[in-house]
Amino acid sequence: MSRHRLVVLAGPTAVGKGTVSSYVREHAPEVWLSVSVTTRPPRPGEVDGVHYHFVDPAEFARMQRDGELLESAVVHGRASYGTPRRPVEEALAAGRMALLEIDLQGARQVRDVMPEALFVFLAPPSWEELVRRLVGRGTEGEEEREARLTTARLEMAAQKEFDVTIVNDDVRRAAEELVSLM
Ligand code: 5GP
Repeated sequence: MSRHRLVVLAGPTAVGKGTVSSYVREHAPEVWLSVSVTTRPPRPGEVDGVHYHFVDPAEFARMQRDGELLESAVVHGRASYGTPRRPVEEALAAGRMALLEIDLQGARQVRDVMPEALFVFLAPPSWEELVRRLVGRGTEGEEEREARLTTARLEMAAQKEFDVTIVNDDVRRAAEELVSLM
């Protein structure tokens, strides 16, 4: 199997992309992880410059305008997210393996500009398991629940656009499979 230096990891909401990339961050230091910019506020434990670069909407708009982002998207209709272009180009120029963990809209944009990357879809072990993770303990109303399921169905349908599918049945196993492709 051919190996790839730039890997883009995407998949449906709640599939565990963040957990898999955190595992890679801790256990595969040879892989460079892109740090996205976002307009959402940090969650407890998140470190600026490590998990994200937290910026205000004006700074995000400036970066977009100045062409500093490789891709960008509004996720869940709430906050903007984007991948700074320069660090990705520098990591690749330095001969490093690079991983982008982004949403589906972002993955499609990267495919347009860097088609040589490997596009990996992280899938849930089953549709039922994804529904369980999404709907959780049923704290959302019926409408919110239906909205999430509709989004998840659309996201699952995007699987065929990807080069490889990795099933997130176990975080460690999925992360190791991901690193083995690089
Ligand atoms: P969270 O706010 O939970 O950290 O991330 C929400 C979603 O945003 C996840 O699906 C994550 O993959 C996506 N995301 C994180 N960074 C980026 C980015 O730079 N670009 C895009 N398009 N999506 C991102």
